[in-house]
Amino acid sequence: RQNERESLYIVLNFAKNFYQNQLQNSDEGQSIGLSYFRERGFTNEIRQKFELGYSLDIWDSFSKEALEKGYSAELLEKAGLLIPREGSSSGGYDRFRGRVIFPIHHVGGKVIAFGARILKSDSSSKANQPKYLNSPETAVYHKSDVLYGIFQAKNAIRQLDHCYLVEGYTDVISLHQAGIENVVASSGTSLTIEQIKLIGRFTPNVTILYDGDIAGIKAALRGLDLVLEEGLNVNIVLFPDGDDPDSYVRKVGAEAFKQYLKKASKDFITFKTEVLLQDAGDDPFRLAAVIGEVVSSIVKIPDAIKRQVFFRRTSEMMKVDEQMLITEGNKLARRLS
Ligand code: ATP
Ligand code: MN
Ligand code: MN
Ligand code: MN
Repeated sequence: RQNERESLYIVLNFAKNFYQNQLQNSDEGQSIGLSYFRERGFTNEIRQKFELGYSLDIWDSFSKEALEKGYSAELLEKAGLLIPREGSSSGGYDRFRGRVIFPIHHVGGKVIAFGARILKSDSSSKANQPKYLNSPETAVYHKSDVLYGIFQAKNAIRQLDHCYLVEGYTDVISLHQAGIENVVASSGTSLTIEQIKLIGRFTPNVTILYDGDIAGIKAALRGLDLVLEEGLNVNIVLFPDGDDPDSYVRKVGAEAFKQYLKKASKDFITFKTEVLLQDAGDDPFRLAAVIGEVVSSIVKIPDAIKRQVFFRRTSEMMKVDEQMLITEGNKLARRLS
């Protein structure tokens, strides 16, 4: 087992170097991959920091090279890099072809997987392919345990005692380039308990920067009680509709972006209460449901003093008696325990 993991790390590192080399030194990599990253405004320095690469639009450019170097087809397959040909006992083709490559590092810095993005100028033959293709689950890659960027961010997170959580690879990279280095991405999935604990190793303070669309808001509300339960302090920032942290920082620049973070940041409970209240309007039944929903989030907070603060704050927002909320909270807490 241990040997297999070590072999996987070695071949994944080989692949990372291969994709980086294709990006920088092949004609296709330069004309397509490098120009793609330049158009997105990524500097060479930031490309190096995240070890970005390119996979040629050929069936087997990577696996051919890897097999020549002595890596077995079996190992390439176990690493998620080679897809075996159906109905054939031997041979296969590269998983990643004609895409820009984002290596995914574990917290200690080893490459454990790849994310690969389709290019903007796609031929129609690729029209129905997913925008991002990721490595499958392997012996060293469990998607739900991983936060993209944690290796590059961990020192800044510890130093600043604060972590930004974004949705995508390019959000992480653009924010680094803007000088915000305490940032990791959940990579599109809703947050898992393993990911929350990983952040919690470095700081209890998290600010979630989600894409400013309905899906983003829903994703933010969902699963966040989990974060409260872990005792983390959660704030949230929404971006104007249609923008994500990457597009917004490029639009307004680093300084205005940082100002926006300060101005638009709200604690999660206040945010949730506002969203739900807006949704409920004047309907008393729906207002009652909002109260129950908000109280159920507050009772997840382990710290009694913090709970007290949120009972007071939300009672004012919902124009209900604070003592009534506390009583409801106690009932709920008893039922939960
Ligand atoms: P870009 O700016 O390059 O379009 P993004 O990061 O803004 O990328 P989103 O559509 O906001 O892309 O998705 C957020 C994240 O979700 C991505 O970075 C990626 O990790 C994941 N993701 C998006 N689409 C897919 C997909 N089709 N398959 C797997 N993962 C995906
Ligand atoms: Mn796991
Ligand atoms: Mn984006
Ligand atoms: Mn996005």
